Amino acid sequence: MKVLKDLFRLFYPELCANCENQLTKNENVICTFCRHDLPLTNFKDYSENKISKSFYGRINVEKANSLLFYRKEGITKKLIHKLKYKGNEEIGSFFGNWLGEILKENKELSTIDFIIPVPLHHKKLKQRGYNQVSKFGERLSFYLKKPFVEDVLERNFTSKTQTFKARFERFNNIDTKFQLKDISTVKNKHILLIDDVITTGATLEACAKELQKSENVKVSILTMAYTE
Ligand SMILES: [Zn+2]
Repeated sequence: MKVLKDLFRLFYPELCANCENQLTKNENVICTFCRHDLPLTNFKDYSENKISKSFYGRINVEKANSLLFYRKEGITKKLIHKLKYKGNEEIGSFFGNWLGEILKENKELSTIDFIIPVPLHHKKLKQRGYNQVSKFGERLSFYLKKPFVEDVLERNFTSKTQTFKARFERFNNIDTKFQLKDISTVKNKHILLIDDVITTGATLEACAKELQKSENVKVSILTMAYTE
């Protein structure tokens, strides 16, 4: 297999998802040089970091953290763009492996029951072919040894016939709503909600609110990146 892989690479070299230089055998997804350029958040404390604090007064969040900072014109933005719009799903695995390695011994996450992604609307899922958070979730599931369950929440567009409130929400960039498929699935559970980027946090907030319609639900949040 290895010989075949090496041969394949000779004709179709893998390129760094950021700088597009050819990757060496030991590099995966991005080159070592770009890897050192990634703006890691390095937040060690899960309850007191600024990501957790950004949800204060909005929703109850146990812990929140992100692997990277997301900046205008930065490397994170470029990678996430490729992950979402250029079919490079492996970027999600790369982030998941990295964060998984960091978190595998983390005691604060040991009470998690399962990991769920912010869902895509089914039409968008069909169009893109994948949820950009799925690979990230699968790798985290592997390292944290917690199940990754993709069908707990559903995403629906708000109907066009809705009134002023819906228009107002659209204006605030919350034009979708989420629905628990079965309210009993999450009862008394600690859910790790995952997504690609936290911008305003409105999407995660909407998901967490829906999850907390069930009884005694704790929510923690983990994302690939956080917008400073
Ligand atoms: Zn590179």
